[in-house]
Amino acid sequence: MNPTMKVAGEGAGKPKGGREANLILGKARTDRPTREEAESAIRTLLLWAGDDPDREGLVDTPARVARAYEEFFAGYDADPVEMLNRTFEEVEGYDEMIVLKDIRLESHCEHHMVPIIGKAHVAYLPKNRVVGISKLARVVDAYAKRFQVQEKLTAQIANSIDEVLQPRGVAVVIEAQHQCMTTRGVHKPGVSMVTSRMLGAFRHDPLTRREFLTIVGNPASSVGA
Ligand SMILES: [Zn+2]
Repeated sequence: MNPTMKVAGEGAGKPKGGREANLILGKARTDRPTREEAESAIRTLLLWAGDDPDREGLVDTPARVARAYEEFFAGYDADPVEMLNRTFEEVEGYDEMIVLKDIRLESHCEHHMVPIIGKAHVAYLPKNRVVGISKLARVVDAYAKRFQVQEKLTAQIANSIDEVLQPRGVAVVIEAQHQCMTTRGVHKPGVSMVTSRMLGAFRHDPLTRREFLTIVGNPASSVGA
């Protein structure tokens, strides 16, 4: 897979400048360390925490953590642009709002490398082309399964749908809890962070925005676009 090529070619539609384009690319490095190097780094962290990596319970932990990382961070090898490019047009002129709500969101905070757990709501107003709804959920995963900050994650999901599908509007709302806030630091469990990105009609038309927010239960009623 090569996200760069896809964006440069069929995917992007209207080309956009540096920062915006980079949000969509976010591609994996090709010069990654070996698995042995990764496992030895995890062993170092076990030592740093104060434990003995050679005791029975920990001896396989570096290998397990490396495998878990492959799952947690599978998004670096995913290609959201390619997912969104598989669209269909036989929808009898359907042009009303399409909303996928309560998408389970599992990500990791890029500042502390601990989980961000929550849900995402994604909507768009199609113009000619629609995409399978499972693709929207997979796009959320493709960006969530990376090291993230919630604001960037929200923008990346919305921007990629906007650029590839070129709909009349896109809305993304994410509500999530950050373990770096609940299990360390200020220790505030139960606090959710809400972020939103509204584009096109969702940004300019208050009725459209209100309809979307009502459907998803108004998590972002006080959040600006
Ligand atoms: Zn954090």
